[in-house]
Amino acid sequence: MDDAAADDAALDGNAIGGLLIEVFGTEMTTAVGTCANCGAVGQVAEFAVYRPGLGTVVRCRSCESVLMVFTVMRGVTCVDLMGLASLS
Ligand SMILES: [Zn+2]
Repeated sequence: MDDAAADDAALDGNAIGGLLIEVFGTEMTTAVGTCANCGAVGQVAEFAVYRPGLGTVVRCRSCESVLMVFTVMRGVTCVDLMGLASLS
C-alpha cells in the first residue's frame, strides 16, 4: 500500500501532448508510432511516459524500449525519436 513511489509510475502519452505540440507544432497524441525494437504499433497517447527528472522518457509498453526522449536545453525542447521505426 505504498503509493509514494510516484517517480516510477508511468503516465500515458497524453501527459506529453503539450510537449509534442511544442516540438511538432501539431497535436501528436493520436499519431501512430512503431517501436523500432519489437515492432509494436500504438498511438502516442498509449505509450508509457516517465519523468525521471532530467527530461522525459517515452517507452514502448510491449518491450520497454525507449522510443522518445525529450530534453530541455536553454528553454528549447528537443526530442530524440531514435527508438521509433516510424511516426505518422
Ligand atoms: Zn517495443
